[in-house]
Amino acid sequence: MTKNTKEELISKNSAKLEKNALTVLQKRYLRKDEKGNVIEKPEDLLYRVAENIAQADKIYDKDADVESLTKEFYLAMSSLDFLPKYPYNGESLSRDKILEYLNYINEVQAKEPNKCGRCSRAYYDIKPQKVSLCDLKLKHIMINPHRFWCNIQCVYCSYCAERNEKEFIKTKPYSVKGPIESLFNAGVVDANCVFSWGGGESTILPEFNSLARLLHDKRHVQVLNTNGIVFSETWAYILSKDERTFFNISVDSGTAETYKKIKGMDCFDHVWENIKKYLAAAKNKGSFKAKYIVMECNREHRELEQFINMCLDAGVNSIEYAVDRWQFDRLSEDTIAAVAYLKALVLKYNLNCKNAFTIRNRPVIAEILANHPLPKIM
Ligand code: SF4
Repeated sequence: MTKNTKEELISKNSAKLEKNALTVLQKRYLRKDEKGNVIEKPEDLLYRVAENIAQADKIYDKDADVESLTKEFYLAMSSLDFLPKYPYNGESLSRDKILEYLNYINEVQAKEPNKCGRCSRAYYDIKPQKVSLCDLKLKHIMINPHRFWCNIQCVYCSYCAERNEKEFIKTKPYSVKGPIESLFNAGVVDANCVFSWGGGESTILPEFNSLARLLHDKRHVQVLNTNGIVFSETWAYILSKDERTFFNISVDSGTAETYKKIKGMDCFDHVWENIKKYLAAAKNKGSFKAKYIVMECNREHRELEQFINMCLDAGVNSIEYAVDRWQFDRLSEDTIAAVAYLKALVLKYNLNCKNAFTIRNRPVIAEILANHPLPKIM
């Protein structure tokens, strides 16, 4: 389609999007320049998707009319008659299906190295060569089935912006146990495969406890990213038996007041109680990391100091510091200075610290801090 025809199609058929959908598109999907400014309209995005879907028809029919198919798909999407959804709905996973998908991702990556955007795992777990049937053994499986299935709403959570409350209440999460069992049955799980839970709140999934126990019985290492509001006896049991079990909780505050502002729920003390209960059960006292995402609303020194005091009081010895990942390109000096202050506090008390969130495996915040002197704390 020529540029003019495309512009004409777009101008006559704008997308009827609600405010929430627009926010999500701006945060996650629309193209941005290196400063983080959005540089395309939602219609451009829909057009790109329509064109990509239309091109797939060439695989099956070399005479496919990509131009008119693009128009057809664009109109279906801009009128909201059809929107592509997550392709997966909890069905069994066969060896062939996984292989086909991995090779598809490799092809996409080879053609367009930036397609996977900021994902830290791009070019990490998946290699750009073709995967063959004999070496198909998954070494890391993320159980991340319902990204917006959560019991709180953190201000920085992009998943929350996607959550339509009415739809959310009606939605029932699909089974995660069946698909994981099908992976075992297909023989594609490496003996040392690590399972990590997170993206949405895993502990509220109906099968969390039984699946976590099953993975423990199979001797797999597990990592849980949780908000810590629900205490799982099963997780405490696994922590008590296997020192290779890890969990992380984003506390992001040093006071109940700030916690409530960030998480929308008054659970600060409750979460710390749960952290202490998990740590009391844990065989490996270093199995827990308390995370702090530094933002404008929680970057005061008093707040950071209180957070460290809470960690010391609970016997936490590992901290993960981060910034809001959607703000990487527009971090203010004050936020960077606050991260530096937090890191200086962590060092003062000899705690372990790690930079959470990477872009393509680069620890971006650590790199920024490398050029920023840490303040001296007496
Ligand atoms: S706990 Fe995680 S999934 Fe839940 S609202 Fe916060 S960031 Fe989002």
